[in-house]
Amino acid sequence: MEPFKIKVVEPLAFTTRAERAEALAQAGHNLFNLPASLITIDLLTDSGTSAMSDRQWSAMMLGDESYAGSRNFYAFETVVRRVTGYREVIPTHQGRVAENLLFSTVLRPGDRVPNNIHFDTTRANVEHNRGVAVNCVIDEAYDQTVNHPFKGNMDLAKLDRVLAEVGRDRIPLVMLTITNNSGGGQPVSLGNARATADWCHGHGIPLYYDACRFAENAYLCKTRDTGCAGRSIEEIARAFFALGDGCTMSAKKDGLVNIGGFIAMNDEALAARVSSMLVLIEGFTTYGGLAGRDLEAMARGLEEVLDERYLEHRVGQVRRFGERLQALGAPVLLPIGGHAVYLDARRFLPHIPQEQFPAQALACALYLEGGVRGVEIGGLMFGKPDEATGTWEWPELELVRLAVPRRVYTDSHLDYVAEVCAALLAGRGAVRGLRIVSRSPVLPHFTARLEPVVG
Ligand SMILES: *Cc1c(COP(=O)(O)O)cnc(C)c1O
Repeated sequence: MEPFKIKVVEPLAFTTRAERAEALAQAGHNLFNLPASLITIDLLTDSGTSAMSDRQWSAMMLGDESYAGSRNFYAFETVVRRVTGYREVIPTHQGRVAENLLFSTVLRPGDRVPNNIHFDTTRANVEHNRGVAVNCVIDEAYDQTVNHPFKGNMDLAKLDRVLAEVGRDRIPLVMLTITNNSGGGQPVSLGNARATADWCHGHGIPLYYDACRFAENAYLCKTRDTGCAGRSIEEIARAFFALGDGCTMSAKKDGLVNIGGFIAMNDEALAARVSSMLVLIEGFTTYGGLAGRDLEAMARGLEEVLDERYLEHRVGQVRRFGERLQALGAPVLLPIGGHAVYLDARRFLPHIPQEQFPAQALACALYLEGGVRGVEIGGLMFGKPDEATGTWEWPELELVRLAVPRRVYTDSHLDYVAEVCAALLAGRGAVRGLRIVSRSPVLPHFTARLEPVVG
């Protein structure tokens, strides 16, 4: 059961099918363009959508809005140092700014940045700084029939290949995303993190975590890896961080806040360079684009997320949701990840070819069917048109992610979503593919407009 009770409620929005069809057309078949007031269950993202606790809300009243040296910064710094072990703590208003600061400081044009799988903003920040983002996750991550407990693991042979190709000097750092969001919210094992760290340090390359879901990753290690079974979540998380040299973090995930993030590291000289960029684009070093009250809420969220009872419910709720979908016949990515259930659009809509964005078509169809919003992680997000030839390079996976916000929906809300999926499965032959009307080159999925393919 939920290890909390509900103190404040917000009514859900209900719409008719005709209203949803009209809204979809207006939005150019891009669910990012929909007003949230037209969505019944919003599983677009688990980012910044958490419900805060009474302890966090009361912390908001303790905001010290001093421009420099706010007491909330010191409280935040203390918690981040305790959880990560990293000395240098730099607040940002969200994760992508931490990425921007890191990559604009360390990357030179042509540098390679290996990761298990780069998240979309991570890849975009690497590429914007003229680096090359390389995915080095194990092959099992792409095989949806394999039930591997740690599909987020790094493949060291793939790291060897990047190294052989460009040499150590062109790899300023290696990243490890825990859990691996773009690969299905799959965890990385502690053993794999250790092997990756040994590989990196053997070649004199720093290892950074994209740590957005470090607590969920630690919980999944505790339940899937006998070596972690007897340890507390905090101990497991600390063991991961101790292997690395720093991390970027979107606290909108496992920070249990609506806005916030940070970058933390041990390298003092690099931190000084990052901090001077921070002052330029974000704010002074003790607030980083946030109000003092936000820092206090983030400090408390980072403590609360380590509560094993909370994580047991959190990860269990997502698993039950996925199992329900599976029982109803929906093709889901296995094993079920920590924060979301991923529908395999190729198997859900086998009649739609990849050039017609099957995952985007599925996300739109779910909205039309029941006012449910998920997000496409497929060709619209990661497909790359070749400017010269007009042909596309397609990603391996066509997924719709149904991300579960933290502490927001009950199991009966998610049962409703499962029923919507089942109804859509029964009538899936009527779902049509989509074609692009307009698309921007940077993070195209946020703003693209599409229309159904006719004929
Ligand atoms: C959300 C996310 C980010 C970016 O964080 P924002 O707070 O959205 O800017 C980076 N990496 C991963 C794995 C994420 O899930």
